[in-house]
Amino acid sequence: MSSSSSSSASASDDLALRIDRTVALLRGARRIVVFSGAGLSKASGIPTYRDADGLWASQNALKFSHAEDLARDPGGFTKFWAQRLSLIETASPNPGHLALAQLQRLRPATRLITQNVDGLLGKAGGQDVLELHGSLRRWRCDHCGNRSGPWPFHRCLRCGSHARPDVVMFGEMLNPGVLLDAQVAAQESDLFLVVGSTTIVYPAAELPKLAMARGARLVTLNIEPLPHLDDAAAVVLRGASEDLLPQLLAGMAGD
Ligand SMILES: [Zn+2]
Repeated sequence: MSSSSSSSASASDDLALRIDRTVALLRGARRIVVFSGAGLSKASGIPTYRDADGLWASQNALKFSHAEDLARDPGGFTKFWAQRLSLIETASPNPGHLALAQLQRLRPATRLITQNVDGLLGKAGGQDVLELHGSLRRWRCDHCGNRSGPWPFHRCLRCGSHARPDVVMFGEMLNPGVLLDAQVAAQESDLFLVVGSTTIVYPAAELPKLAMARGARLVTLNIEPLPHLDDAAAVVLRGASEDLLPQLLAGMAGD
């Protein structure tokens, strides 16, 4: 459970008490930001990058994870990503996604920021989701800028060039507009909730710190400890997001 060095969440707190404290924070907040990562989608059958059986375990993943790989081997590239897309197309939102969409309906100022490219938050009813790494459900053409697919045969319907998924690949920059929106949302938030993300890579590591620098309270909800964040958190929730998020929403909806 919580580390002995944590001053804000003592080991004697039980989970129910932590949930109550989080519900109170959510109720008192005016601008909530929820930052989610792969842990949120795991219960929907989306493998995480780091799992042994994960998306990146195969040799093909290494061959097709950079944007230049499209020019090197267009056929292999589109085949690899089409397989990933079909995996995601059959996935459904889990109770964690649905709870976050419900939170946004209860508190419309809530911003949802995610590292996930599966589009499941939007499918659950989430509005204006800030997808830092893009979406596998959208394809685009780097030749003419067309962005609407997926297209049949993975070729742009406008110019016929090989299309690519509209996700941020290794060696590519994040979409600067999406990143700026996420930074502003973090700075304007008064409660920042991390869900299912190790928050180690940029910009995930930066956003909670931006929020806290402006006085936001932090809540971490993750299976594993987050040593670099948990000590600064007002509440640490350890567990699966598909279990804990519905409990938080049940607490907010009830009186
Ligand atoms: Zn095109």
